[in-house]
Amino acid sequence: MTKRALITGITGQDGSFLAEFLLKQGYEVHGIVRHVALEDPVHRLWRIHHILDQLHLHSASLESYPSLFRVVHQVEPVECYHLAAQSYVGYSFEDEFSTVNTNLNGTHFILSTLKERSPQCRFYFAATSEMFGLAQESPQNELTAFHPRSPYGVSKVAGYYLTQHYRDAYQIFACCGIAYNHESERRGFEYVSRKITSTVARIKLGLARELRLGNTSAKRDWGYAPEYVRAMWMMLQQPQPDDFVIASGETHSVQEFVELAFQTAGLDWRDWVVQDQRLFRPSEGLELRGDAAKAHRILGWHNEVPFEQLVKIMVEADIRRLDDAGEFIH
Ligand code: GDP
Repeated sequence: MTKRALITGITGQDGSFLAEFLLKQGYEVHGIVRHVALEDPVHRLWRIHHILDQLHLHSASLESYPSLFRVVHQVEPVECYHLAAQSYVGYSFEDEFSTVNTNLNGTHFILSTLKERSPQCRFYFAATSEMFGLAQESPQNELTAFHPRSPYGVSKVAGYYLTQHYRDAYQIFACCGIAYNHESERRGFEYVSRKITSTVARIKLGLARELRLGNTSAKRDWGYAPEYVRAMWMMLQQPQPDDFVIASGETHSVQEFVELAFQTAGLDWRDWVVQDQRLFRPSEGLELRGDAAKAHRILGWHNEVPFEQLVKIMVEADIRRLDDAGEFIH
C-alpha cells in the first residue's frame, strides 16, 4: 500500500523540498495549508507550484484543533512532519505573543490529534539551534542545555519538550530534529542569506544600488536545505524514536557570506554594502555550531554541500530567476 505522509508547512522552504523528496520515494503526499494560500496560489504556493498536481492539499489552521483533527482523520498518515511555524527570528521579537501561541498550540494540537486518531503515525518536530541561544558550550550536541534568546526559541523549546512528553507518556514515535540554519534558493527573502543573494543579483542586473545589513560579524552554522529534509525522513525510518542535531559543524560569518556572494557575481562587496544600526537585533545568541556526530553515527547522514557551494548555488539561482523574469536592464 502507498505510504501516506502529512506535512504541515508544505508551502515553506523545507516543506517544499520534503514534498519533492517524499514523492520520489513513492509516498502519497498530503499537505496542510491555510485557506488564504489556496486562494492566492501564485504568491503563496510558488515553492510547490511545479508539483501541485501530485500533492493533496488540505485547508486547515494551526490555530484550530478541529480543523487539524479533521485532516488527520481524513488522511490517516503513517508519517507526519510538523514544519509549520512562525519561524523568522527577527519578527518574533515584534510579534512575541502570536509566535509563542501559534508555535506551541499548533504542535500541541497536532500531537494530541495524532494520539487520538493515528497513534501509530510517526511524528517529526522541527526543532532548531535557536533553542541553544546563549549556549554554554560549543559545539552543541543533543545533551547541551537550552538557553533560548528569542520568543521563537522559547516556543521551540516548549514544542521540543511537548514532543518528548508524547513520546514518553503515550508511546508516540516522535522525533525532534535540532536543525541549524539551512538555506537554499527557496529561502524567504527576510533571512540574511537570501537577502544577500537576491540583492547581489539585483545589483548585478542594475536593479539595486546597495545592500543594507545589520550585524555582519554574526556567525551561523549554515547548510543546504535539501540535505536537511533528507535527515528528517531518515529519523522516522529508525527502529526507535530519538532526537538529533542536524548541522554542518562549521560556522561562517555574515561577512564571509557577503564576500563570497559578491565574488560569485564578479563584484566587490566594498562598493555596495552599507551597515545599518536599525537592523541589529535586540539580543542575539553567541556563535552556534552544531555537533552532528550522533546523526552521522546512527542515521548515516552527512551534509555534502559545503558553504562556498551553497552561496554559489543561491547567487546563481537568483541571477537566473531575474534574468528569466526578463528584468535584465542592459
Ligand atoms: P536566524 O539565524 O534565524 O536569525 O537567521 P537570519 O538569516 O535572519 O539571521 C542570521 C544572522 O544575520 C543574525 O545574526 C542577524 O543579526 C544577522 N544579520 C545581519 N544583517 C541582517 C539583515 O539585514 N537581515 C537579517 N535577517 N539578518 C541579518
